[in-house]
Amino acid sequence: MKVIALLSGGMDSGVATALAIKVFGKIDYSIAIDYGQSHKAEIETSRQLALHYKIPWRMLHIPIPKGGLAMAHPKDIVREAPTNRISPTYVPQRNLLLISIAASYLEYLLTKEDEEGIIVIGVHRTDWSPHHPIYPDCSYSFISALQTAINIGSRFVYEGNGIIKIFAPFVNKTKADIVQTGMELHFPFDKTVTCYRGNPPCINCPSCRARYEAFKEAGYKDPLLTKYHLWDKAEEKWGSK
Ligand SMILES: [Zn+2]
Repeated sequence: MKVIALLSGGMDSGVATALAIKVFGKIDYSIAIDYGQSHKAEIETSRQLALHYKIPWRMLHIPIPKGGLAMAHPKDIVREAPTNRISPTYVPQRNLLLISIAASYLEYLLTKEDEEGIIVIGVHRTDWSPHHPIYPDCSYSFISALQTAINIGSRFVYEGNGIIKIFAPFVNKTKADIVQTGMELHFPFDKTVTCYRGNPPCINCPSCRARYEAFKEAGYKDPLLTKYHLWDKAEEKWGSK
């Protein structure tokens, strides 16, 4: 078995990676992808998480066209994103690109002795559900269809060695479930970046809010906000809503 993790530097992919280490016993490779994010802190955080878990790490650049990309142009971000339509921070086909690259790397790692190849990704239902359609490339149907396509297009699979799976443990779970799992696994939440502006978190943007609400729902204080003495400020702003 070979396992490759997409490790963005955020908490979702970080906890998915921690869970994959528990489930599969190892991660062979972790990848951070620079597609023009507004803050490079996310990439450095990914590297720190890989160091924390002692797994090989590599950064790759993908030249995604920048027109209209909120992640690449933080000033364009709508502060409170509406929740009933696609997010202004949607990066066109981001997860297709990320998973495809991981699949390509994975197939280089796989040998005849392997029965499985695993791609780890931290997508979750809080980012895509019928009532909360933010990122369509986080949906179960998308991940499932992509897994099928990867297997159909794989030499490793065609030659009868084994199969390739996308391990997306939170695809039908919420961000609060990710918090719960992370806490159980002693995941270093204070080493992650969620805010569009990097750390310290701005306590203003939709990402900060979604993270705060996930911790609130799970019944924990966010160790990252606690580290920067910002938990009370977040409580004041969003706690009663
Ligand atoms: Zn923020």
